[in-house]
Amino acid sequence: MNRKKAIILDRDGTLIEDKNYAYKIEDFELLEGVIKGLKLLQNNFIFFIVTNQSGIGRGYYTIQDFQKFNDHLINVLKKQKIVILKTYFCPHLREENCECRKPKTKFIEDIIKKFNVDIKQSWIIGDHPSDIQFGINAGCRTIFLTTGHGDKHLEELESLGIKPNLICDNFLKAAKEILKLL
Ligand SMILES: [Mg+2]
Ligand SMILES: [Zn+2]
Repeated sequence: MNRKKAIILDRDGTLIEDKNYAYKIEDFELLEGVIKGLKLLQNNFIFFIVTNQSGIGRGYYTIQDFQKFNDHLINVLKKQKIVILKTYFCPHLREENCECRKPKTKFIEDIIKKFNVDIKQSWIIGDHPSDIQFGINAGCRTIFLTTGHGDKHLEELESLGIKPNLICDNFLKAAKEILKLL
């Protein structure tokens, strides 16, 4: 009975500004409401990041560049006493048809097993239709954010008929909605 509830976070456009294949620390910019939102959620949930990083496969930056940039995010959050248990990233191109690129659920299956997560009580938060499809495929609840590229993707989301549980225009609102549904 000690299964944990998780929030599985997209990174770019969800936690930080999506600056198209960013990997330099100077381009790092946390989005509004993220710290407050994560603080509200951390008593009830454990946190993971799952991010598609095809910039690696495209040769725009290396795995080391990615890790350095991501570690910066993890450290900024750590200073606020917010812990991300693990970051999962897919370095592949869509065309490679790998098993780890969202909306495929390999990384969530790993999280469920390794961290004993109750996926039905867990949430995906993201700004892309593939994040929502990822959550639906995994059987968890989903929030589509219109931060990042979310605004641009909202029409796409609707035309694809992908239905998130909620749509929010910033991270803090998303966190508050999740708490209401505990
Ligand atoms: Mg994103
Ligand atoms: Zn992959």
